[in-house]
Amino acid sequence: MPAPRRWDTPFWNRATETMARAELDRLHMARVQALLHHAWESSAFYRKKFEAAGVHPRDVRSLDDLKTKVPITDKSEFIGLQQERPPYGDTLALPMALISHHAETSGTTGVPLSIPYSMADTVRYGESWCYGFWGLGIRPSDTFYFAFGWGNFAGFWSAYWGARRLGCRVVSGGGLDTKGHVQAILRTKPTVLISTPTFALRIAAVAAEMGVDLSQSSVKFTYHAGEPGPTALPGMREQIERAWGARAGELLGIAEVDAMAPGCPNGDGVHMNEMNLHSWSMDPQTGREVGAGEIGENVVTGYANTAQPLINYRTHDLVRRVASCSCGRTWAKLDGAVLGRTDFMVTVRGTNVYQSAVENILAEVPGVSMHYELVLTRADDNDVMTIRFEPEPAIGADAAAVQRAAGEAQARIHQALHVRLECQPVPCNSLPRFELKTKRMIDQRPKEFRRALDR
Ligand SMILES: [Zn+2]
Repeated sequence: MPAPRRWDTPFWNRATETMARAELDRLHMARVQALLHHAWESSAFYRKKFEAAGVHPRDVRSLDDLKTKVPITDKSEFIGLQQERPPYGDTLALPMALISHHAETSGTTGVPLSIPYSMADTVRYGESWCYGFWGLGIRPSDTFYFAFGWGNFAGFWSAYWGARRLGCRVVSGGGLDTKGHVQAILRTKPTVLISTPTFALRIAAVAAEMGVDLSQSSVKFTYHAGEPGPTALPGMREQIERAWGARAGELLGIAEVDAMAPGCPNGDGVHMNEMNLHSWSMDPQTGREVGAGEIGENVVTGYANTAQPLINYRTHDLVRRVASCSCGRTWAKLDGAVLGRTDFMVTVRGTNVYQSAVENILAEVPGVSMHYELVLTRADDNDVMTIRFEPEPAIGADAAAVQRAAGEAQARIHQALHVRLECQPVPCNSLPRFELKTKRMIDQRPKEFRRALDR
């Protein structure tokens, strides 16, 4: 019988999280082989695609073969086939009777992706969260509070599967309004809050209006997904941890792939879950692999989703892999989580500007609130990014102070990124508020300049 898991270790599964690279790669190869054969046998989509590329699963004998011989897949292909024959069309690789959960992406561009999971898929997907929960310090004696409306969005459903796997008590905030969440938290005394990062700040702000200081509440941990959070944006970590008197953690997930990358306990990046997927970085222009330290698009092959396999799947996330991490995990680390999106990478007068770099600077400018958007347009054959921000309410009525904040933001961006971006203040409470996935990037460029589908 295996020894019981020790509560004082930082690892959910020390053996897999610290496995040597050669051993990890051997495991990847076996899993990739099994997945390729499953896709070839069971998915009309992959059979056609592999045949067109002249590749059979038995030709893929190394991870390099996976990167160079096996075709790349993209979300738009899946959506196209699903529209032809809803709900899953040729993308389904298991009999419908084995599908136990249906989810959809949030579909910010209009057409959502349908995602089927088998029962086993949901178990593996749920366990993905446990690595991050455990690394932050969450234990089976904790109580989770879900500030989430339980729609078709998979992210927080899978977090719930994870909380069950961990053995914790779960309290659902369901369809409560923000005040209702504050009251439920005071009443049920959870120790872990699950929400998007911006919604955690929103709850704290509403609590303050109600005269409640949540930094004195029972909550010891906040855990986030769904949009860039405390790992990508240190300024946001500081605000959440101060407002809640808690440690903030984060996980990078993609609904159709997996809760794929738990935050590193060091707080400066995420580790790809190498038990559930293989990943590599691709130059989005040439399709070739880029090495450690360089920025490239994260391309993933998932083992958790057998119902709709994703093989060499484009995430459109721009990431920078680092070779090792002082936390002891050997799983590939993405420095600073996601640095930007291939569809939102803008080149302003020859300089590549990443969304996360701009957001990190904004979070540190006094007088600039967390409510802002980055608007992309084209002028004179160049991408143009304009920042529209709400000032902090305390200075909202002071026009001179607001202008100073705008000037300060512009100056700091110019100093750090060597580009001039216009910063336009807008009135307090004029930008939309979101419970899920705050929309920061507003792409108003002509269609041909947008590089890919929004997530
Ligand atoms: Zn680490």
